Order: sequence, then structure tokens, then C-alpha cells
Amino acid sequence: MIFHSTRDKSLTATLSQALQRGLAPDGGLYVPAHFPAMTVADFDGRESLAAVASRFLAPFFEGDPLAPELDAIVAEAFNFPVPIVPLKTSDDASVLELFHGPTSAFKDFGARFLAACMGRLTRGSTRTLTILVATSGDTGGAVAAAFHGRPGIEVVVLYPRGLVSPRQELQLTCWGGNVRSLSVAGTFDDCQRLVKAAFADPTLAARRELSSANSINVGRLLPQACYYVYASLEGFRRTGKKVNFIIPSGNLGNVLACVWARRVGLPIGELLLTFNANRTVPDYLADGDWQPRPSVATLASAMDVGNPSNMERLRHLHPQWQELAAAVSAVSISDEQIRQRIRTDDVGLGEVWCPHTATAAEAYAQLAPARRAAGPWVLVSTAHPAKFPETVEPLIGRTLPVPPALARLLELPRQVTEVPATLEALAALLQ
Ligand SMILES: *Cc1c(COP(=O)(O)O)cnc(C)c1O
Repeated sequence: MIFHSTRDKSLTATLSQALQRGLAPDGGLYVPAHFPAMTVADFDGRESLAAVASRFLAPFFEGDPLAPELDAIVAEAFNFPVPIVPLKTSDDASVLELFHGPTSAFKDFGARFLAACMGRLTRGSTRTLTILVATSGDTGGAVAAAFHGRPGIEVVVLYPRGLVSPRQELQLTCWGGNVRSLSVAGTFDDCQRLVKAAFADPTLAARRELSSANSINVGRLLPQACYYVYASLEGFRRTGKKVNFIIPSGNLGNVLACVWARRVGLPIGELLLTFNANRTVPDYLADGDWQPRPSVATLASAMDVGNPSNMERLRHLHPQWQELAAAVSAVSISDEQIRQRIRTDDVGLGEVWCPHTATAAEAYAQLAPARRAAGPWVLVSTAHPAKFPETVEPLIGRTLPVPPALARLLELPRQVTEVPATLEALAALLQ
């Protein structure tokens, strides 16, 4: 498989190159040059996520040096459960729980897969690879966990001081060793700007081999597509109908993975994207006017994105907004609706949502009855509620048990460097 830049088809890369570069040289994002066609029958006899993933990813790995390692990469990355839990409602609805990895959010899938690939690509290299990652909360922890202790690779995590939850911050700063955590005096947008500036800086690039682990990296999207393949097969085999997904969204990486899975032919029907008060995408789908704007802070902070970078890939697939508006729909959910939904479903359904997943639950509750009855719906659960106790616990009136993997991380000592939001400060640290 060849990948090329969203901005220039002639800027091509193999999968390994696309993984290592992150961004294409012209600032575009790598996309597959074509989408292989697959049918449900191609997955006959494949039940587990790893078995499904090996089949789905094979054409994307074809011809790449990593191809012979695909089965091993998948087995290493997807080593935790992915339950599909039926919801106690009269219509066919279930929850795809993506929070059973080491840092209790769906970012573990992409981060672990990328680490398994990069670890193999840097084997035998004498230069240290530096992975820069800007995070609004969950990505940084997942990437740090996935790369911690890997020889030949160093990770630098940039997060906005005071704008991540206390438990997220503990997960970002508990590592040491080959992971450096930078608490940046600025917003997530500032962190993202710094990472981009570091890549564009010729002196830095000459001195260090830099790579990115943000969701612009195709090595995070491909593994995310696998759980949509897995969940759509489960629903289709059970009901004979296409499966609809409701996806809490920010930078649109999770959505894009699902769009790709649908594009190759998996039985996926409607995609309903949920946003918090950051309305850039719902507004665009409504009137075709693309207006990126500064992000605003909400309870679903990992979705606080005003200028989602993966929009470039979505618009590459669907250049006309009417076409995109037909391919996906979107709703915006307020903080008050998030609070109310967490309370309501705790009592009514016995489900405790994280603030992000609550946007999907609220969107599901808002569906017209006929639409709700039209097919299996899968609510994508992006994080464990115990990651956000300061929001969730007062709403449900009790303490949430912490998953053991998360509890272990929270016990470790903090190691963090405070930096101003300037390239000079970042460059000095990278010397
Ligand atoms: C990252 C994240 C999201 C948003 O996902 P995108 O791929 O950026 O759209 C939603 N919920 C949680 C918990 C996240 O960590």
C-alpha cells in the first residue's frame, strides 16, 4: 500500500515512512492511495479483535517491511479486553468499551500499536528517535505508557498546565526514564503549535530525529479502525443489519478510523458524531462554512478542540460539504446536558459514563424513536469514568473504584518540567 499527502498525491510514502514521519513534508496528512474492498465473508472464522485486525490491516501493510510482523504487532498492541456491553434499553443498543487498556482511554489502542511498530522500525538504529506529543489529557499518558522503557526511543509530552484533570496529570508525569513531561504555560492549541514549530525548525530537525504520535499519525488511525471492524461484525452477525455508531469527537481521529472501516466495505450504517460546546464541526455540517476557532473549556476536556486536524482527511474523502453532511451527522452537547445524562443513566440504566461518553449517551437518548429502532446502535465509550472523579462522583453521589492499572500509575512519584509556551524553551530542553 502506498500512502500520500492530502495536499499532493505525488508526495508518497510507504506505511513505515508515513509512521515515522507523522506529517507529510508539505504539512499534509498521509492517507491511503486507495481503499481495498472487503466483505463480511473475508472475516469468516475470525472472532477476536486481534484476528479481525490482522485481516483488516493486511492490505495496508502489503509490501511494507513491517508486513511479516503484522500478527506480532497486533498481538502485542491489543492485549486487553474490548467488551461490547448490551445497554438495558428496549431497542438494540450496546456500549463499545474502549477503556480497558493501561491508561483507561481509547488512546491506548493507537499508542500501543504505534509503539509496537516504531519499536520494530528503530531496531538496530544508532540514533535515538524523539517522539513529540501534544496532549489535551489522554493521548500523552497513553503514548508515555506505550513507549516507556523502549530502547532507542525517547518521548517528550507537552500538556497545558491546569487544563487537564488531576488524574490525567498524574498519568502524564509518573514516568521518568525515557519519558519527559513538560507542563506548558498555555493551552492545548499552544502545545500543538510548539510541536509543529519544532518539526519545522531546521536546526532541531538536523540535531534530532523527530517523530510525532498525535492523531495526525496514520499509525494511530489504522488500529482504531480495527475495533469498528470488530464491533460492526459482531452486530451484523447477530442481527443481519448494518451497525450505527455514536462517537464522542474532538480531533476527529476516532471518527476517521470508523469512516475508513465503512469505506472498505464493513457493515457500518450511520455515524453520529457528538461534540461538546466546541461546535466547529456541527456548524460546518449545517451550513458548509468552515470556521475553526479557539477551543473553549468543557467538562469533556479531551474533546476541547476548535480546529480539528483530521478534518483535512475527512474533507479529502468528501470534498463537497453536502457529501460530507450526508456521510456523517453531528450534535453538540452542553455541559449541563452532560451532567444531567450522567445522573439519569446512573439511576435509569446502571451505567456510569465519563463526561465524553456522556455526550454519546445523550445523543442516543435524543434520537427519534423510529431512528433508534432502525438498527443496532453502538455507543463508543472513550474513557473510564474513574479518570474524571471530580466531575462524575458529585453527580452520582458516591466514590468510583479505580481500575487496578490506573491505580498503580497514580501511586508513582511525579517528574515534570514547567516550561513557557515558546519554541526557544522547547528547543533548549531538546539540546
Ligand atoms: C481523545 C478523546 C476523545 C476525542 O477523540 P478524537 O479522536 O480526538 O476525536 C474523546 N474522548 C476521550 C476520552 C478522549 O481521550
